[in-house]
Amino acid sequence: MIEFSQVSKNFEGASVLNKVNLKVNRGEFLVLLGASGSGKTTMLKMINGMEEPSAGEVMIHDKPLHQLDLVHLRRRIGYVIQDVGLFPHYSVFKNIGLLPKLAGEKPDDIEFKVKHWMKRLDLDYEEHANKYPENLSGGQAQRVGLARAMAGEPDIMLLDEPFSALDPLIRNQIRKDYRQIQKKEAITTVMVTHDLLEAVELADKICLIADGEIQQIDTPERLIFKPKTDKVKAFTAGDK
Ligand code: ATP
Repeated sequence: MIEFSQVSKNFEGASVLNKVNLKVNRGEFLVLLGASGSGKTTMLKMINGMEEPSAGEVMIHDKPLHQLDLVHLRRRIGYVIQDVGLFPHYSVFKNIGLLPKLAGEKPDDIEFKVKHWMKRLDLDYEEHANKYPENLSGGQAQRVGLARAMAGEPDIMLLDEPFSALDPLIRNQIRKDYRQIQKKEAITTVMVTHDLLEAVELADKICLIADGEIQQIDTPERLIFKPKTDKVKAFTAGDK
């Protein structure tokens, strides 16, 4: 589904990732965990072609990324970041309906999808559909961001610290809601975070990165109880 093979990345001569190998299976929730600057976002951006490897190969659905049509690919990959990136001049309805519209769907089908995903993300349609992003709370905006991505019927979701700016109660609830949707729809998900607890709570597998290298890819339990390197031990002990 998603595969990194000997992927390296340099920025202006400085090495950020060094010969990284990674496989994410269909329907899996993988968390990229690591300290600030460890290369998590760079890895995530390589999955939708926003960054290119300096060496090695990224494969999506068994095809090298550089051979794929990026516009087409990105329509199948949801991308949700911390500050959401909703279009400020579009209503909630238009934001969520954007990808179905770009795909040429009929107005009735678009409305059906917007209503469906608003409901699944616990957003009241009557109350919020005509609002503009500036009139939403942080949690509501994040829910709209997730609904917008889901309305594009992605088979891969990329999440870059999407919950970190939210207050803890709201954060927990949105995480749970997304995890439920992700499991039900079997959406392959890669999420970046530096928060160990968040990773443990959500991940099928955690990939811990330090110094541009993958230290360990494992279930949360094994990462904590059977750390393979001193860096994993230090990170999981809170001694980053
Ligand atoms: P954070 O948790 O702080 O977001 P991260 O683990 O996601 O960090 P990246 O954003 O992938 O880290 O960045 C890894 C390194 O690459 C950093 O040192 C960063 O400064 C550098 N870097 C990232 N993008 C670029 C770029 N476009 N040009 C130059 N350097 C970059």
